[in-house]
Amino acid sequence: MTDADSHAMTIGMMNVTRIQRRIAQLQQQLLELGPLHPGSISEQYNVCGNPGCRCKDPKKPQKHGPYYQLSYTWQGKSSTRFLRPEQVEEMRQKVANYKRLRELMNEWVGLAVERERAERAEEKHHRGD
Ligand SMILES: [Zn+2]
Repeated sequence: MTDADSHAMTIGMMNVTRIQRRIAQLQQQLLELGPLHPGSISEQYNVCGNPGCRCKDPKKPQKHGPYYQLSYTWQGKSSTRFLRPEQVEEMRQKVANYKRLRELMNEWVGLAVERERAERAEEKHHRGD
């Protein structure tokens, strides 16, 4: 084995260790995630059916709202529902946690693929081909 080979192998092993350490961090962060919910929250402003209402003012219409809507798709089914104003803040946090879950999962899967590659590269060095 040349010095260059031995160096490459050390790098490969370091990668696997580093990847494993990062995966352990991600697992911990996943455990610490609070309540979550998929979807997004949007604000709606509506016009009512009342003639002469401020929402129909010809010069300066003031629509009613905001009304908060939660929209999400789960298992192929889309849902939308209104949130009461006092529910909005908590739901924002849940939606943010869900987004975080997806980010953590994506990074974990990416590292799993990278780790597999690093391990194969290492084996190749051991076999010497
Ligand atoms: Zn109105």
